[in-house]
Amino acid sequence: NCKNADDVLKAVRDYNVSFIQYWFMDVLGTLKSFQITPNELEASFEEGMGFDGSSILGFTRIEESDMVAIPDPTTFQMVSWRPTERPVARMFCDIKTPDLQPYENDPRYIFKKVLAKASEKGYTFYVGPELEFFLFADSKGTQPLDAGGYFDAPPLDMGNDIRRDIIFSLERMGIQVEYSHHEVAPSQHEIDLRYNEGLLMADIATTYKVVVKEAARKHGCYATFMPKPIFGQNGSGMHVHQSLFKNGRNAFFDPKDPNSLSKECKSYIAGLLKHAKEFCCVTNQWVNSYKRLVPGYEAPVYIAWAQRNRSALIRVPMYKPGKENATRIELRSPDPAANPYLCFAVQLAAGLKGIEENYELQPAVEDNIFKFNEKDMDTHGIDALPGSLYEAAKELEASELMKETLGESLHANLVKNKLAEWDEYRTHVSEFEIKKYLPTL
Ligand code: GLN
Ligand code: MG
Ligand code: MG
Ligand code: MG
Repeated sequence: NCKNADDVLKAVRDYNVSFIQYWFMDVLGTLKSFQITPNELEASFEEGMGFDGSSILGFTRIEESDMVAIPDPTTFQMVSWRPTERPVARMFCDIKTPDLQPYENDPRYIFKKVLAKASEKGYTFYVGPELEFFLFADSKGTQPLDAGGYFDAPPLDMGNDIRRDIIFSLERMGIQVEYSHHEVAPSQHEIDLRYNEGLLMADIATTYKVVVKEAARKHGCYATFMPKPIFGQNGSGMHVHQSLFKNGRNAFFDPKDPNSLSKECKSYIAGLLKHAKEFCCVTNQWVNSYKRLVPGYEAPVYIAWAQRNRSALIRVPMYKPGKENATRIELRSPDPAANPYLCFAVQLAAGLKGIEENYELQPAVEDNIFKFNEKDMDTHGIDALPGSLYEAAKELEASELMKETLGESLHANLVKNKLAEWDEYRTHVSEFEIKKYLPTL
């Protein structure tokens, strides 16, 4: 565990590290990486390593094409999927302008800004995401490896060897795993990480996705975080468990409340509910994301909260005596194909807004909302999440909170990019249409 540049330089010498990968993320969550040799390391902590920002999606302004990546020494880790002899290490980078100012469109910086706002109010943000994924024979189709379902054991579960390798690989990188299991859909899996501080968890989620993909590749198959790869089956979500701590105590817990939830927690939930439509384009950023958010597949559609009900957007696990630190809420809409930095940033921003403005929390809805008709929806005052990427992009575009959180430049870029994706999809003639219309029209 390195604290500063000197620790990193020492570790690189001691372990005879061959290359150091410098990681950062583009706006839509694609991991970018370049490798340096140890000779370049020392200077790069001060001067950074230059790269062409105009070739990175979302870092588009030509006048800002000379960008600089400065490594964060606290993120130094050996890469567990590369050879152990002459090992490879990696560090996450912060992106800076040529005069070494933070770059406004760097997702990690955007998240840091929201975290700083939380910490000004004395809060530490903790996150525990559950990233689901599918294993397929290759990346060209959706041929599953097994026909297993929720919690199935071998031989129905054919992913257990791969999951085992993933877990060991994560642990070698200092990432704590809580448990893992086969998920509901055929060839679908989940590995749950121990909750951690927000920024660290966004870095960890990024690493997790690489580890999963690398392990699958070693086993000759393909892992995907695509939100809804198979029609008629559950999609892959990234439920985000979250809580705020203040002075070392869980600020979401209040022993005097019948549900053990503090006023801050309730306003935080109210913030998520109120702004859920506006941040949906960030937590669910692809055309395909909206094929997961439909009734009947354990993914949320309606904007409500509950303690038991898993059809709600937000679930609050029941308090277990003595477990006050575990008091938390679970937002169930995000999918694992989101950019984790932006995905966590917008949730925290919405929750903090709720606390700041003392939002009133609507009553919990414990009935199965999927069985509600329109009148039930109206009486409960329940609204739905955006039904398509188009609706989500329009909500994002109109949102002041999102403009403020993401910054004007990234906000505008993202809306533009997502509307363009929608247009590409909208004008595409699909197999569905050919099959449905061609024989009769
Ligand atoms: N796969 C479901 C989703 O899309 C979640 C299923 C579960 O974890 N119970 O969110
Ligand atoms: Mg789970
Ligand atoms: Mg799950
Ligand atoms: Mg869950």
